Amino acid sequence: MSPEEVTEARARRYNGTVISIRKPHPELMILRVQPDFSIMPHRAGQYCTLGLGNWEPRFPGCQEENLSESDEAKLVRRAYSLSHSILENGELIKEPHTKSLEFYITLVREGSNPQKPPALTPRLFMLREGERLNVGERITGHYTLEFTKPEDTIIFLGTGTGEAPHNYMIWELLHKGHSAPIVHVNCVRYKKDLGYLDIHNELMKKFRNYTYVPLTTRENSQSSKKFYIQDLIRTGQLAELLGGKLEPERTHVYLCGNPSMIGVPIKNPQTNQKEYPKPQGVIEILEGLGFQSDNSAAKNRGNIHFEEYW
Ligand SMILES: Cc1cc2nc3c(=O)[nH]c(=O)nc-3n(C[C@H](O)[C@H](O)[C@H](O)COP(=O)(O)OP(=O)(O)OC[C@H]3O[C@@H](n4cnc5c(N)ncnc54)[C@H](O)[C@@H]3O)c2cc1C
Repeated sequence: MSPEEVTEARARRYNGTVISIRKPHPELMILRVQPDFSIMPHRAGQYCTLGLGNWEPRFPGCQEENLSESDEAKLVRRAYSLSHSILENGELIKEPHTKSLEFYITLVREGSNPQKPPALTPRLFMLREGERLNVGERITGHYTLEFTKPEDTIIFLGTGTGEAPHNYMIWELLHKGHSAPIVHVNCVRYKKDLGYLDIHNELMKKFRNYTYVPLTTRENSQSSKKFYIQDLIRTGQLAELLGGKLEPERTHVYLCGNPSMIGVPIKNPQTNQKEYPKPQGVIEILEGLGFQSDNSAAKNRGNIHFEEYW
């Protein structure tokens, strides 16, 4: 595309401005975007889309793309959960997002399918403050606190940037004065991947019912056996954080991020039986302990809620 065509396409397709970027490291960012339109009422835990044109430059060292001329003029959009910084100057932020939206995004350098290079994040990571992008006006999603009660224990289990919707939900719970236990586990590769660590440490000091448990799978100091969220439950350590046992009748569990951590079962059409994926995910372990996952096909709400990122 010519520089004039790029200028015209940006003006036509982009409807939001990057107002701040914080990068805990070069491949992880907390992005704040101000849309040109009014942000629709929404709930913590929901998502919208972000988009950039294929004409935009890509972050160096990412899998190469081979775009046709017609593809170059297209906009690529992906879903992103709304995140939340929870605290500002040590105090709980008073408002939900009404003027700008916060996102927590990781750079994907290589696609899991070699034929499909990652399209959006290599471009998002080239953005600078003041630059423009496309923001979806619709904020949607079922992954919310809708069915929880004030006396319920809430457990958030996430991998990587799967922490994003949990941050917003934690803000909503604390903002509403939730006084029952809130346990938040985030599993990442390295400590540097815990982009909101300082905020969570501060929250633990301020709110006695809040516990943050970071798990790092690739730090040198740890033993050679990796310790995942599944292990935290199997070994009873998650229950210990809650006084010794998990009580399905008064607990809601939220799972977000990597599908293998979540482990959504499928129904075998031949046997009509539920089959869990291997290796074992969290849903199978929790259902063995008396929890029940949401089943959107049957429109059943359980006490395990999940959002898969891919
Ligand atoms: C409802 C929903 C909410 C989402 N919210 C977020 C969010 O808040 N933050 C975020 O970083 N991503 C989020 N994602 C994933 C996001 O939509 C993109 O898929 C991701 O940013 C990669 O985009 P891409 O175009 O570069 O690569 P894609 O072509 O979309 O993905 C290529 C591959 O990258 C891997 N991948 C995708 N997302 C991630 C990830 N988050 N971490 C590690 N590997 C990944 C998968 O193997 C995937 O097959 C969400 C997805 C969904 C469905």
